Amino acid sequence: AVVKIERALLSVFDKTGMVELAQALHDGGVELVSTGGTHKLIAGQNIPVREISDLTGFPEMMDGRVKTLHPKVHGGLLSVRDNPEHQGAMTAHAIAPIDLVVVNLYPFEQTIARGAGYDETIENIDIGGPAMIRSAAKNHAHVTVVVDPDDYPALIAAIAETGGVPYPMRQKLAAKAYARTANYDAAISNWFATTLETPDLGWRSFSGRLREVMRYGENPHQWAGFYTTGENRPGVATANQVQGKTLSYNNINDTDAAFELVSEFDPAATAAVAIIKHANPCGVALADDLLTAYRNALRTDPVSAFGGIVATNREIDAETATEIVKVFTEVIVAPAATAEAIEIIAAKKNLRLLLTGGLADPRAAGLTVRSVAGGLLVQSRDNRSVEDCELKVVTQRQPTQAELADMRLAAKVAKHVKSNAIIYVKDGATVGIGAGQMSRVDSARVAHRKSIDAAEAAGLEGALTKGSVVASDAFFPFADGLEALVEAGATAVIQPGGSIRDDEVIAAADAAGIAMVFTGMRHFRH
Ligand code: 5GP
Repeated sequence: AVVKIERALLSVFDKTGMVELAQALHDGGVELVSTGGTHKLIAGQNIPVREISDLTGFPEMMDGRVKTLHPKVHGGLLSVRDNPEHQGAMTAHAIAPIDLVVVNLYPFEQTIARGAGYDETIENIDIGGPAMIRSAAKNHAHVTVVVDPDDYPALIAAIAETGGVPYPMRQKLAAKAYARTANYDAAISNWFATTLETPDLGWRSFSGRLREVMRYGENPHQWAGFYTTGENRPGVATANQVQGKTLSYNNINDTDAAFELVSEFDPAATAAVAIIKHANPCGVALADDLLTAYRNALRTDPVSAFGGIVATNREIDAETATEIVKVFTEVIVAPAATAEAIEIIAAKKNLRLLLTGGLADPRAAGLTVRSVAGGLLVQSRDNRSVEDCELKVVTQRQPTQAELADMRLAAKVAKHVKSNAIIYVKDGATVGIGAGQMSRVDSARVAHRKSIDAAEAAGLEGALTKGSVVASDAFFPFADGLEALVEAGATAVIQPGGSIRDDEVIAAADAAGIAMVFTGMRHFRH
């Protein structure tokens, strides 16, 4: 089932590897036909190549909008070679078969990523390219379609060996071709939906490019792949991995959580460090310098930090790097690192270091997607925070300025903790984090109990939560949650409010003499 390739149509925007391919095809006796820019490149290397206008009898026109949209192209691609009626049409209209199409598309994704305007974006919607790809892919019984320069070497090898391309390879290339055009149209449709702010067009396409197949997923018996969406956003997908083992599925998920959390804090105002395990922080701290922030973040829960992921909002310096590598750490993610810090980290050869070049914009719009059986759940990003809230003191006691600063930190951390989230903060650092419990009281107690262990590890008496402030990601349905915080030694609480029993909760706070502030903004995270 090898079809000998006699004629190839080459039309590529990305010219990577094109000269070598054209040369190899020519050497293999293949007639080459090509569009403007591609033709110029190939002819410039003295490789014989026809112009597409020579084949169609029409000039390329309308700024290249119409180049290959012609029956001589699509008839040559779509005709079934052993169908007498198709053959008759080809003879009658002088259509020559085209056995190979090599196309890559106008860079629509890159155009939107660099923030081009409306008209330029529209002009970068490729029409003829996807049409040829789809024609050739449909007719893969006879035709080979290549959409990715990465596939040129295998194509060259196959043609050198047999003069053509074996059927299984044609079939796989066709499948890849449709994945590419679907991905391309998804990018266009998403750009439209975002631009017009109409996410409810009846369909919504989601699409990504496979960056790598991972060893496994959440567990070793699960397949996993990392698909990138091409969004131009600092983060785990666009970071430069300086060193260390390949990132696993869980590493990527956790690193994303860590980096999004530290990105909440303006590096010009404060250094911030987050240590993450299983997508939940086990310590977050702010300080004037990164080293102090790291030490304080680690103090929250040094046991859980083992095998964790460390994120910073500032360039990692040598002192901080020295301290981080003392604890077994899976990943470090930061906007940058000094040469000295990179050298220190290099001593731990497995430790992954990811440099993002900047912080993520916590206010960026965008969508989050998760799957449920038979569907996708889509929502806009949680791109708001306590900074957007008008804080309302509901107790007799007013919080102090120091308490308010810690409350803001606690509320920001709570947004990044799985519900039910209870975050104790003192002096710019978390001192207890209760995550993912099914009852809010349990989250309050878990964090308190762990802070007793952490105090012991730090050589202190009692619980770290003594004298702290607390944030809750959602309101307290009953006073018992509030009472658990008081038991842990909290002096002030920040929470959305809005429970039908708010009065009972406020009364419990007043009875205990603590201050309470309502934000009016819930931050569930599941
Ligand atoms: P070239 O650089 O060879 O002039 O153009 C190659 C690009 O043109 C490829 O990205 C290909 O997908 C695209 N292309 C080929 N034919 C057509 C057509 O008829 N209309 C449009 N809009 N693009 C085309």
